[in-house]
Amino acid sequence: MEKKTYEFSIYIGRFQPFHLGHLESIKFALKYSKKLIIILGGAYSSPSPRGPWNIAQRIEMINSCLSETEKNKIYFVGIRDRLYCEEKWIQNVQGEVFKITNSVRNIAIIGHQKDASSYYLKIFPQWEFLETGNFKSINATDIRNLLFLKNDFLKISKYVPKPILKYLTKYAKSNDYNLLKRKFKYIEKNRNKLRRDSVTNALIFCNQYILLLMSKEPLKKDLYSLPEVDYLDREFENNSLENLQNEVTIDIDKEHLSMSYVSSDFFNYSERFPLGKQLSKTYLFMIKSDNLPLISAAKNSLKVMWVLLDDLPFFQDKMYADHYQIIQKFNKNFY
Ligand code: NAD
Repeated sequence: MEKKTYEFSIYIGRFQPFHLGHLESIKFALKYSKKLIIILGGAYSSPSPRGPWNIAQRIEMINSCLSETEKNKIYFVGIRDRLYCEEKWIQNVQGEVFKITNSVRNIAIIGHQKDASSYYLKIFPQWEFLETGNFKSINATDIRNLLFLKNDFLKISKYVPKPILKYLTKYAKSNDYNLLKRKFKYIEKNRNKLRRDSVTNALIFCNQYILLLMSKEPLKKDLYSLPEVDYLDREFENNSLENLQNEVTIDIDKEHLSMSYVSSDFFNYSERFPLGKQLSKTYLFMIKSDNLPLISAAKNSLKVMWVLLDDLPFFQDKMYADHYQIIQKFNKNFY
């Protein structure tokens, strides 16, 4: 029996990078729907081993594989991940789709249920789910490993459309590539040597400012992060200041800092740390003071700074792992 056709279909993905499996899915979508909305996840995140390319780069890659007729049927939407606020992510996806489709109801969501991480394909009951099937078991993680660890363009050419091979060949000559390549090598060398399954971070807030730093840790290189204070299983009251002082020297006495403690929360998105499962317990300190306490970089960091909360969006694409999203989870405390 012929499949029904739809006004719109929706295709959600990271496309890091866009490969032949993704291209097949676009062809599938355009066979069963008049128009296609491609939702690119991870918008405004900093370049990372799981997501080297920003929205503009990914759209350029996808467009380079499409004909003019195909391009005229496609809308692109970049959506931020909200790892600790699923409800907002769903509302954001629905809102952006509605802006394009308006009152049209005849909509499908397409994709391949490859594993548990594909759960999102079934959380939009208003859109009919169409399974695309798996195309030759191609997988973006393998392609990234071939690119950053092996530089094996011959193998990559079996998994990506020709324009993507060209794009990646050029990208492999860039500074961005070299920076991430060092992180890939570090991950490869240290993968099964995870020293601890949890870390403790401090979110220090004072007069509408938040304390951020640039750490010397290889995976955090060139990115802003929250200070790390202690192991989870110790009492932070006893150790926080000493450990904090590995990364930042802050001109505030221990008692004042302890009294500024407000609350803590766990952050356990499974892919948050590339060497293995490692959760963060983050403590929020809200310091009451007429002036911002003086700060300076300590032995484990290159730079520390007070950043105005309102300016934080400008730091979004330069923040390490999920630290931007951790700050957002505490947002209700700040206003
Ligand atoms: P992806 O690029 O890995 O895959 C995109 C789609 O292509 C998926 O349906 C996948 O199954 C399919 N696919 C992959 N290889 C295929 C092949 N060989 N043949 C056929 N199909 C193939 O992207 P993804 O990780 O599934 O993307 C989901 C995005 O949505 C991510 O950016 C994620 O962060 C985001 N998301 C965010 C939240 C949140 O922030 N709360 C929640 C859910 C999803």
